[in-house]
Amino acid sequence: MALPDHNNSIKKDNPYMTDFRGLELAQPILRAITDEGYTTPTPIQLKSIPALLKGRDLLGVAQTGTGKTAAFALPLLHRLADNPGAARRGQPRALILAPTRELAGQINDSFTSYGRYLRLRSTVVFGGTAVRPQIRALNQGVHVLVATPGRLLDLMNQGHVRLDGIETFILDEADRMLDMGFLPDVKRITAALPARRQTLLFSATMPKTIEKLADSLLSDPERVEIAPAASTV
Ligand code: AMP
Repeated sequence: MALPDHNNSIKKDNPYMTDFRGLELAQPILRAITDEGYTTPTPIQLKSIPALLKGRDLLGVAQTGTGKTAAFALPLLHRLADNPGAARRGQPRALILAPTRELAGQINDSFTSYGRYLRLRSTVVFGGTAVRPQIRALNQGVHVLVATPGRLLDLMNQGHVRLDGIETFILDEADRMLDMGFLPDVKRITAALPARRQTLLFSATMPKTIEKLADSLLSDPERVEIAPAASTV
């Protein structure tokens, strides 16, 4: 005789449960998370997702490895899917800026995984590689664009991307972006964004320059700070 599964019933009735079902994400997103093998949200996901679903701005002090990509990608996908529309040629609704092509590629892979049951298109553009396939992808229509700053500016200047339809802008690894000398590029890009938008800024550290940048970009942000996973004194 099978024993009743107490664990399951406890989980189901517990208002403090910390699995993803408590976060009010759309079913197709929950299915994709299950496919990924995620069962419990990480601390940054628990703290960020509810605020982001409400449309709040966010200042995230967190490193890579904390689960920050899903923390911003899941609510973004939810909001886009909640208010669907055809992918527009060269006119994304969400822009994620990352400092390196590796990170940009990983973020785009995450969007592809988490969005696999949604009808949303994401694409990535970065330098050091042929621009033609990237232009082709943009011309096919895009909801979510992940980009490094230099290549994005080139594509904007050539008329292949317009940012006036951006609803959510995410600046990832802002401190690294500044260390790499991208501040002027970031400023040119943010100047092309609509004033009315949701903005997220993530940085592992918060020096004065980042505080200043955050002040200029964010409006009444939710602040989420996650200590590095392990630190040795
Ligand atoms: P990130 O900090 O976004 O680079 O994520 C670090 C790693 O954690 C990635 O390999 C993710 O696939 C994984 N990850 C993110 N969220 C979760 C979660 N809730 N449960 C298990 N793994 C996760």
